[in-house]
Amino acid sequence: MADDARGFWKTPAALAVRANPDQPVAELECNGTPGFVGDKADGLRLFEERGAVLSSLQEKLYANGRSGDRRSVLLVLQGMDTAGKGGMVRHVIGHVDPQGVDHAAFGVPTAEEKRHHFLWRINRALPRGGQLGVFDRSHYEDVLVVRVHDLVPEEIWTGRYDEINQFEKELVLAGTTLVKVAMFVSLDEQKSRLRERLERRDKYWKYNPSDVDERQLWPAYQEAYQAMLDKTSTDYAPWYVVPCDRKWYSRIAVTELLIDALEKLDLDWPTATFDIDAEKRRLAES
Ligand code: AMP
Ligand code: MG
Repeated sequence: MADDARGFWKTPAALAVRANPDQPVAELECNGTPGFVGDKADGLRLFEERGAVLSSLQEKLYANGRSGDRRSVLLVLQGMDTAGKGGMVRHVIGHVDPQGVDHAAFGVPTAEEKRHHFLWRINRALPRGGQLGVFDRSHYEDVLVVRVHDLVPEEIWTGRYDEINQFEKELVLAGTTLVKVAMFVSLDEQKSRLRERLERRDKYWKYNPSDVDERQLWPAYQEAYQAMLDKTSTDYAPWYVVPCDRKWYSRIAVTELLIDALEKLDLDWPTATFDIDAEKRRLAES
């Protein structure tokens, strides 16, 4: 970690927000800034600095992918409406070269998707080697919205936690590092973000009347999120629980989680597959 970043994180983000069974979702302070000791101005400055670091690491991942490395990183974003998933993509992933990003958003399954196993559409969207994958919602909807709304019988969704763990274990073995981020916004902050969507012409498109229905189911969602964290935060694919009332914080936290994941790959620039001196000579003579 750069000196500046180290100074502002009294606990590294990957430790500060890692899902902890002793800290239930119901007690989470959504306007907190776990691990971070600076203020908003510090956070915004650091965001640009660390975004550049993220960009350079991602370029290395991409370069290695081009040279045949099968490894990839997959950011999974889960959160209620207005938690800031779209902004996370736009601003955090916005720091990196779009060529190296495999982005997928998962909405209500299409008729075709419904005919398949719930992991079918997920499998088709996995990042290729060298790519930074981003899931805006994910297979976890199949134990969240599906559980809250009884979209399939209980005996089916209860089995999905184990299925997901097995699926993710295989993904990790195949070379994908999962960075799973559960984004939490408080009910008050959600209300004000939804109100803004109703007050601004440029935000109507983000508003969906069903967001208010979902909001009223918050206790059921909280229970479903808690079960998800309890059952699917594993040592090979842990969950990170990120408070999102302060967007500047959630964005620097996720930037650090991605930097951490990429640094652990210990990437170097791919070596030349040609004779450098011979090529320099050829070029000079050309
Ligand atoms: P948005 O992310 O605002 O575009 O909304 C997407 C909607 O699709 C959300 O209401 C999700 O809960 C819903 N959704 C995503 N995956 C599923 C699923 N597997 N089953 C049912 N609804 C889903
Ligand atoms: Mg929405």
